[in-house]
Amino acid sequence: MGTFSREWLSRWLAPLRSGLAEARDAVVSIVFPAACRICERLLTRASRIPICDNCLGSFAPLPEKICVTCGRPLEAYPLREGEVLLCPACKTGQYEFDRARSYAIYEGALIRAIVLLKFEEMTPLGHWFGERLAELVRRGEEELAADVVVPVPLHRQRQRERGYNQADLIARPLARRLGLPCRPVLLVRTKPRPDKLHLSLEERWSSVRGAFAAKPGSRVDNLRVLLVDDVMTTGATLDACARALRQAGARTVIGLTVARALGNPLPAADER
Ligand SMILES: [Zn+2]
Ligand SMILES: [Zn+2]
Repeated sequence: MGTFSREWLSRWLAPLRSGLAEARDAVVSIVFPAACRICERLLTRASRIPICDNCLGSFAPLPEKICVTCGRPLEAYPLREGEVLLCPACKTGQYEFDRARSYAIYEGALIRAIVLLKFEEMTPLGHWFGERLAELVRRGEEELAADVVVPVPLHRQRQRERGYNQADLIARPLARRLGLPCRPVLLVRTKPRPDKLHLSLEERWSSVRGAFAAKPGSRVDNLRVLLVDDVMTTGATLDACARALRQAGARTVIGLTVARALGNPLPAADER
């Protein structure tokens, strides 16, 4: 094709913005079939998400048997009749949030997908994740009911470098699906994340302790907040955000993440 490439066509059609973006993407995928960004198989349908159905279908949902508070899988946990399923951390009341739930386990193709969302601003994928989380919230009914959606913020320095916040890319479409307001300015990260790529368990907790604050004058009085992030690892970030929201008067805080890391996650997507 010489100088004619997918990128060339995409650039040539770039003025077709906003409402026509879908038409532009469709034209590009018909003329130049793209490969799945995860497994590299050729995509057979025109979609705004450059990930094949195989890869999307490979994301592993969390099992049924989870801690009622933090959502940690507890499959091997022996349960006595009438006992509420609580993990050791939640038995001691470690977390400030009321509930935390995730769509799928942070492994395999989902790790790659989160990297695409996070470092390539793959907005259509954020929409797809938002839909999955909306389904989860609807299934949870009263337990996950909320009044407002708040994405976990980045420190302003990081946001400036990256140009966007990956949690926003999930929170906005989620809020739209649930018919709730999305309030990205409600929380701020006042303390930046340490530059180190890999953080130990203790460093994770200490790096987010007091790192978030509700914006002065913001109104969360008596509101039930859905706090949204891409990955939950130790729960330290959601916990620190929940503390700030509670201090600002939030009635309940429910943490909601696309992925749940069960072991040691890869550093690339783990880094905020
Ligand atoms: Zn694939
Ligand atoms: Zn728990």
